[in-house]
Amino acid sequence: MCPVSTLLNSSFTEPAASPALLLLGQGRDLASERGVECVGELPHASDPDLVERARAARAALGDRAFVLGHHYQRDEVIDLADVTGDSFKLAREAAARPDAEFIIFCGVHFMAESADILTSDTQQVVLPDLAAGCSMADMAAINQVEECWDVLEDAGIADVTLPVTYMNSTAAIKAFTGRHGGTVCTSSNAEVALRWAFDQVGGLEGTGKVLFMPDQHLGRNTAVLKLGLDLADCVVFDPRKPNGGLTDAELRDARMILWRGHCSVHGRFSARNVSDVRAAVPDVTVLVHPECTHEVVTGADLVGSTEFIISTLDAAAPGSSWAIGTELNLVRRVAAAHPDKNVHYLDSTVCFCSTMNRIDLPHLVWTMESLVAGRVVNRIVVDADDAHWARVALDQMLALPGL
Ligand code: SF4
Repeated sequence: MCPVSTLLNSSFTEPAASPALLLLGQGRDLASERGVECVGELPHASDPDLVERARAARAALGDRAFVLGHHYQRDEVIDLADVTGDSFKLAREAAARPDAEFIIFCGVHFMAESADILTSDTQQVVLPDLAAGCSMADMAAINQVEECWDVLEDAGIADVTLPVTYMNSTAAIKAFTGRHGGTVCTSSNAEVALRWAFDQVGGLEGTGKVLFMPDQHLGRNTAVLKLGLDLADCVVFDPRKPNGGLTDAELRDARMILWRGHCSVHGRFSARNVSDVRAAVPDVTVLVHPECTHEVVTGADLVGSTEFIISTLDAAAPGSSWAIGTELNLVRRVAAAHPDKNVHYLDSTVCFCSTMNRIDLPHLVWTMESLVAGRVVNRIVVDADDAHWARVALDQMLALPGL
C-alpha cells in the first residue's frame, strides 16, 4: 500500500492511536512508511514566482546537480529535467554523471534507491517528496519475501527456484534477489531475464521455477506470451495467506511463482476498455504496457515498455489511430508531440500515478533552494549490505544480452 493510503487508512481505522491527517509536506508520521516531513517552508503552490524561483535555483546549482525526470512526472517537473526516461534509463543516466554532486530524482522511492546504489559514495541522491512511493513496490515487504522463501524451503523447492525481481521493487528485495543468485529485470528485458533464470534451474523444459516479484502481471504476461508457458504453470503467492494460499503440491507443480502484486495505475485498464475503443475508433491500434492484466494484454495489438510506447508513436504513420494504456501524463505528452496522429487514452477515467504526482513544483523548488543554501534534504541512502547485494542483482541484469 502506498504511503499516502497508509496515512489515510490509519487515520480512519485507528483514530485513537493514529496521528492527525498530515497536510502535504508538513509534519512527520513515524508510523507511516517514510513520513512526509519537509524541513522549513514548502512554497505555496499558487506562488506566482514559482517557475522563476525554480529556474533561478536550477541555474545556481549548475553542474553540481543533475535532474532526472521519469516519464510519468507532471509537465512542470519534466520542463526542469536534464533528462527524461523510464526507471532503468534514469538509473543509468545517474551513474553516467559521476561529476554531479547531487542527483535530484523526480520519480518514486525505489528509483532513487537504485540511483543511490549505482552512483558513487560522494554523490547524494535526493527525492523531492519522501511520500513519493510506489504502491507496487510496497506490495512486497522484505519480511514477507523471506517468509515466502521459508515456505519454498519447507516445500522442498527452494534449491530449484531462482528469484527474479522487477526494477519496481525496494532495494531490500533487490538485495534478497542478489543474495539468492537471481537478477533484476525491466519491462524491456523481462523475457531475456526469465530465459536466463530458467537456464540456471535446469532450462525451460525442466522442472525448475522462478519466483517473480512483485508484479504478477508482468511475470505472467512474459511467461505465457513470450516463453510459451501455460497459464496453468503460473501460481500466485499471496503473502497475506498461510503458505501463500497454495498447497505444497501446487507449489511443486508450478513453473512461475508470481508474487501477488500489481500496479494500481495499469491494473485499472480492462478488457472492456479495449473492446469499447475498438468499437468507437475505426482501425485503432491498441498499445499497452505489460503491467496491464493478461486479459488487456492479450486483447491489445502491441505491448511494451514506456520507451517502446514512445518510439512506436514516433515511428507511426501520420493519420494513424492509437489507444494507449499507460500513465496519463505520458499519454498526454505523446499526444501533444504527435498532433498529426489520433492518440486516445485507453481508460475512460483519469488515471495518473498518484505517488508520482507527489513530486510537484513546490517540492522541487524547496529541494533545489535547500541545496543552494547548503542543506541536503530528503537524501536517499541504501544500507551498505543491501546496496552491495542489490548491486549484484543489478549487475547480473546488466550482463544479460540486449542491454
Ligand atoms: S505507475 Fe504503477 S509501478 Fe509506476 S510508480 Fe506508479 S504505482 Fe508504481
